[in-house]
Amino acid sequence: MTSTRTALVIGGGIAGPVAAMALRKAGIDATVFEAYAQTADGVGGALSIAPNGQLALDVIDAGEIVRAVGVPMRGMVMQSWTGKVLGEFGSADSGPLADLPDMQLVWRGDLYAALYAEAARRGIRIEHGRRLVGLTETADGVTARFADGTTATADILIGADGIRSAVRGLIDPAAPSPRYAGLLGFGAQVAATGLPSTQDKMHMVFGKRAFFGYQVSDDGDGGWFVNLPHKEPMSRTEAMRVPNDEWLRRLAAQFTEDRVPAREMIGRTRPEDLVITGGLEDIPHVPVWHRGRVCLIGDAAHPTSPSSGQGASLAVESGVELARCLRDLPYDQAFAAYEGQRRARVERVIAMAARTNSDKAAGPVARVIRDLVMPVAMKMMKPEKMAWQFAYRIDWDAPVRPELVAAA
Ligand SMILES: Cc1cc2nc3c(=O)[nH]c(=O)nc-3n(C[C@H](O)[C@H](O)[C@H](O)COP(=O)(O)OP(=O)(O)OC[C@H]3O[C@@H](n4cnc5c(N)ncnc54)[C@H](O)[C@@H]3O)c2cc1C
Repeated sequence: MTSTRTALVIGGGIAGPVAAMALRKAGIDATVFEAYAQTADGVGGALSIAPNGQLALDVIDAGEIVRAVGVPMRGMVMQSWTGKVLGEFGSADSGPLADLPDMQLVWRGDLYAALYAEAARRGIRIEHGRRLVGLTETADGVTARFADGTTATADILIGADGIRSAVRGLIDPAAPSPRYAGLLGFGAQVAATGLPSTQDKMHMVFGKRAFFGYQVSDDGDGGWFVNLPHKEPMSRTEAMRVPNDEWLRRLAAQFTEDRVPAREMIGRTRPEDLVITGGLEDIPHVPVWHRGRVCLIGDAAHPTSPSSGQGASLAVESGVELARCLRDLPYDQAFAAYEGQRRARVERVIAMAARTNSDKAAGPVARVIRDLVMPVAMKMMKPEKMAWQFAYRIDWDAPVRPELVAAA
């Protein structure tokens, strides 16, 4: 039985509000502290919530929220620059992937807004303009210090403050920094693409010079993203110094030889609709996930690049799993049990996404090899091989036993 009663959750992104709702279900009162003064409506591009992320949200009765704001993605079609289909994955009628919810494509801002509304409906406090700058631990609690000079105290503190986590640096000053994947991210929603529906399937194209993903709904509206190989790291702020219409021109120019509708979709994008996400980054291994009364979740603990399609889903899983551990064990044992349950899984996803990034950023020689090898690799990719990722379920009702701590 837990002795934890109160929690400070630092970061009001995706992991933070979800963790607060899961903690509430575990009988722990949590308050979320977000650095930015306003909500992040309209910030960030599209991201996918995989079946496993929705199953984790279902544990806290929040899966419908995502399905209400998402566009279902019932399959993925991998293509080469010639338009040739390299492989196709879809919803399965049988086997370990059957009966899973469809993957959902959501705009990060919409997901934020929906999660915030639900957290508020459940009476969870989310305080804005509270940037954590320090923390102090005592025998019976932990105090967070914020940039505005205020403080807050609780039994534990959860760092859900993203890939550039301040909490991570405070519990481990030697923690590694994000690693640049050699790609810049862009995306946009486009009304009236003039293109045929992709029938709820996302097309992913290894273009000659850049990677292009797109989906078109039955009503003709659509969305796209580009991963542009770029040797030098470029932050989002630096990338945003280049005018949007100039980026759109540069992006369209990457696809002149490719036989896919990249130039059409980019050409129909209004400059004001372009979303610049900046350099793709990850950290393959964050050595310290918890210290004393403090523990990390989401991108603070396991930042994967968007190529995994799992960043938000893993963040949700971690928030729910940590709450389950805290429900049953004292915080120190709970943190160790949580790490024991999560680390191998999330680092496997991060490594897989890093390999995808190398394929996307391939130079001319590596590209030829990739295009030869990929159709064979795709043929061997059976749905059951993806089950470890997509069919992962958290059994909320199963008690967390102290033996797990020994295994951690
Ligand atoms: C601006 C932005 C755009 C993104 N766009 C995409 C995308 O297009 N595609 C994709 O796949 N993934 C994207 N991501 C990443 C994706 O959202 C994450 O992988 C996933 O949501 C993990 O959630 P998280 O809650 O752990 O981290 P985040 O969603 O990054 O949330 C962390 C939160 O903590 C807050 N914070 C940071 N430092 C402090 C502090 N010191 N004190 C208090 N609060 C703090 C941040 O403001 C943020 O709200 C984006 C992330 C960001 C921040």
